[in-house]
This record gives sequence, C-alpha cells and structure tokens, in this order.
Amino acid sequence: MSDQRDVVIIGAGSSGLSAAKELQRLGISTTVIEGSHRIGGRAYSEELVPGTWFDLGCAWLTDGDDNPFARIADSLGILLGRSTWEAYNNTDNHRFIHNGVRLGREEHDACRRYYDESYEAVAVAAGTDPEPSMSDVIDLESPYAPPFLESVATGWGVDVDGVSCADNTTSTGELGYPVPHGYGNLVAAWGADVEVTLNARAERIDWSGPGVAVETPKGTVKADLVLVTVSTGMMASGEIAFDPLLPDWKLEAIQGLPMGTENKMGLAFDTDVFGPEGRGHHTVWSDNADSAKVDVNGMGFNSVSVFTGGRHGIWLEKQGPQACHDFAVDRVAEIFGNDIRKHVVRSITTAWSSEPWTYGSWACALPGQAHQREPLGQALDDRMFFAGEATSIGSQGTCDGAYKSGIRAAEEIAAHIKGTARDRRPLRTPDPCFSRLHAPRR
Ligand SMILES: Cc1cc2nc3c(=O)[nH]c(=O)nc-3n(C[C@H](O)[C@H](O)[C@H](O)COP(=O)(O)OP(=O)(O)OC[C@H]3O[C@@H](n4cnc5c(N)ncnc54)[C@H](O)[C@@H]3O)c2cc1C
Repeated sequence: MSDQRDVVIIGAGSSGLSAAKELQRLGISTTVIEGSHRIGGRAYSEELVPGTWFDLGCAWLTDGDDNPFARIADSLGILLGRSTWEAYNNTDNHRFIHNGVRLGREEHDACRRYYDESYEAVAVAAGTDPEPSMSDVIDLESPYAPPFLESVATGWGVDVDGVSCADNTTSTGELGYPVPHGYGNLVAAWGADVEVTLNARAERIDWSGPGVAVETPKGTVKADLVLVTVSTGMMASGEIAFDPLLPDWKLEAIQGLPMGTENKMGLAFDTDVFGPEGRGHHTVWSDNADSAKVDVNGMGFNSVSVFTGGRHGIWLEKQGPQACHDFAVDRVAEIFGNDIRKHVVRSITTAWSSEPWTYGSWACALPGQAHQREPLGQALDDRMFFAGEATSIGSQGTCDGAYKSGIRAAEEIAAHIKGTARDRRPLRTPDPCFSRLHAPRR
C-alpha cells in the first residue's frame, strides 16, 4: 500500500487527521488508513437542496472562537455564523411547545428553572464516587421533565437513566457557531492535504511486536507504532481483531463508554414557512410521548433539523427513513401548522445507531464510569496509541474534542519516538532501547 512509515493511523476523522498533520509537522512519517470512501468520519455534510447544506453529524462549533476549527475556518476563508449565533442561542429564544401550544411566559420561566435546577443537581452529584445516573438526582415527576428528558436523550444520545452525572460536556452549554457551508465540508477541506488510503478497513492489528502490522483488504500496513482513532462502538463490535487481545482494563474502558445515538432529520422547504420569529431552538412534546428538538435554521435557509435520541431515537431509526421523515414533518407541523406539509421539498434522515463505521453518534459514560475516558486514551506498550472524541476529557462528544485528542496522541507519540531516539544516540554498542522497543510484548 505504501512504504513503511513511523506511524499507521486508523481512521480519517477529525482526530486521525489532526494527529497526522501534527506528526508530519514534527517530522514523523505517517500513513492514514480509512475504512470508508471519504475523510471526515462523523463530520459529514450533504446538500439538502442546492445551496442549503445539512450536517449529518457535527454542525456547531462549540466554544466559539476557542474552538480550533474557528481559526481553521478563518484561514480557509470559510464563513462561520458569528453574527447570528447569539440571537439564535439565547435561552429566551428556546421555545417549548406542549401538545402543539407554545408555553406562555410564566410556564416558560418555570420550565427553564426546572432545567437549571436539574443541571445543578447533576453538577453536584458529579462529585460523588461512584457518580450516579442523572435519573437518580432529578425530579422525574415535574411537568417539565418530558422536555428535559428529550434534551438529555438528544444532547447525550442516551436516556437519563444511562448517563453518568459526571459526563457533563460542553455540548450542554451555549452551542457556538453554525457553519452555513457545513461543518463536514470544513473538516474535509482542512483534511484534504493529508494523504489517506480510503476503503482500507483495518481488520486485524498485530501488535505482538516488533512494530505493528495492520491488515486491510488492500494489504498489510507495517509501521513502528499504531494510532487507533475509531469509535468505542467500532472497538466494541469485534470487527477489528487485536493480536494479542486488548487487556481487561482497556476492554472495561470501552464498555464503560458505549455509544449514544442522536439522529437528525433535515427538511428543506420551498419557502420561508417560519418567519423571522420562528428561527431558533424548539422542544416539542405531547401527552402521547412524541417528543423532539427542532432547530429552525438561523442562517436564513428554509430548512430545519429535527433531533431524536436515546431509546426513542433508536426505535424510530429502526422504523426506516419514511417513518423518520413523517415524524419530522409532524413535529414541524405542531409548531408552524399543517400548511407547512405542502412546502416540504426534500429530507435527509440519519441512522447513526446502525452506521457501520461508528455504531452510534458519540460515546457516553455509563453511571460510575466517567473516569474511563482516561484509560481509554492510554497507550499500550508504547506501541498502540489511542485518540478520538471518546478519549477527550471535557470536550468529549465533539469535533474539537476529537481534534484535540489527535494532537494529544501525536505529542505522546513524538515524545516516545524522540525519547527513544535520544536514548539511542550516544550508544555505539548494542542498543538496549532497541531491544526494549522490539522485545516480545510482556
Ligand atoms: C448526529 C451528530 C451530531 C453531532 N453534533 C456535533 C456538534 O454540533 N458539534 C460538535 O463539535 N460535535 C458534534 N458531533 C460529534 C462529532 O461529530 C464527533 O465527536 C467527531 O466528529 C468524532 O471524530 P473522531 O475522529 O473521534 O471519530 P470519527 O469521525 O468517527 O473518525 C473515525 C474514522 O475511523 C473510520 N473507521 C472506523 N472503523 C474503521 C476501521 N476498522 N478501519 C479504518 N477506518 C475505520 C471511520 O470511518 C471514521 O472516518 C455530532 C455527532 C453526531 C453523530
């Protein structure tokens, strides 16, 4: 496939691409293998209708200008929705619609208070050891629990009983900047200069030493070290064979961080059915338990994203794209009236739970398991390194968290390689570091 390099990187998502760029910058040679037909992974944009982009995965630059992709977008001349995001993300602009009726001011404020109290209870419980699930600490009897549960199911991809209180992420804060041309397009443009072998699924990683050998349908790639950036869903699937097997502590970390599911349904309309007042975030729920989050595009496009998550999101995904489309149209009609139905021109629905390259949207810590992000990211035998959003602490579940994890892994690899080289340099006699590096694994 290619000459032997220092490092083989598995996966060309945000983390694999940032690691490859950083390693190359540090003078370390890499080869990147990607199982699918494209780079970007969970950053992926499609054109809903000409000129209107829809992100199937990440869509918002969390943390605004602190996000490394803000600088990258600027350097590539890609527009960010800096001027619109404040009005769009204003919590007053987050509307609650119950049984088709928007909550009045008093109820809206009571609902927001319930959200604040719930997040406060979760934050306090995050400090206990082991940390409980969110459902253990919030008031599930409140009339405002249904929209909050929907927010958790979409925000974490898991229902409240399956989320650790200590797995709070930046995604629960103010969202940040939208990318009108698509976050996936931004990541693809930034990663375009990285040499990647596509359609090269890693099927087996031999890390028994010396070095590593990664088997793919296109041949075996050999390198000194391997960096694994695939999702915990892919690692748990057993589709990549590890030889020798991963140690128990690594398997426990993978199991403690299973994938959540957030699905999106993008709808395009042939006219502005929302009006300027209609743009922003909506949470809809009804007494027959149909609930969803609906983002009406704040960038002026006549499109919406309808979100579902957790068990309901997975159940709906299993009903198929038509059921997802119908569900999405029904929710938008609850907010803007039945007339919108005749203006729908196209839809795209995601199916992240069954997506064969990730098996979910992002990793979410089970109760008592938030500490597993650290061992998940730890290297094995200084030969197999790990990155990816799930290894990020504080920015987990985000594209920038994935990016930063790639930089972190690249620095670890560089320190290891340079340390090894430094140890070697003064030695003229047989090099003990060489035997340490290439000795059979303990
Ligand atoms: C619906 C949804 C909404 C989101 N919204 C946001 C948001 O608004 N803001 C935000 O910041 N983040 C968001 N995220 C999260 C963000 O997209 C991810 O955290 C980030 O893109 C993950 O990057 P990664 O490099 O860790 O993994 P990935 O992007 O999954 O990259 C891993 C790569 O490995 C490849 N791969 C898998 N198995 C193999 C194999 N065996 N061999 C070779 N290659 C393999 C995959 O094809 C993939 O390209 C969202 C995600 C989803 C799904």
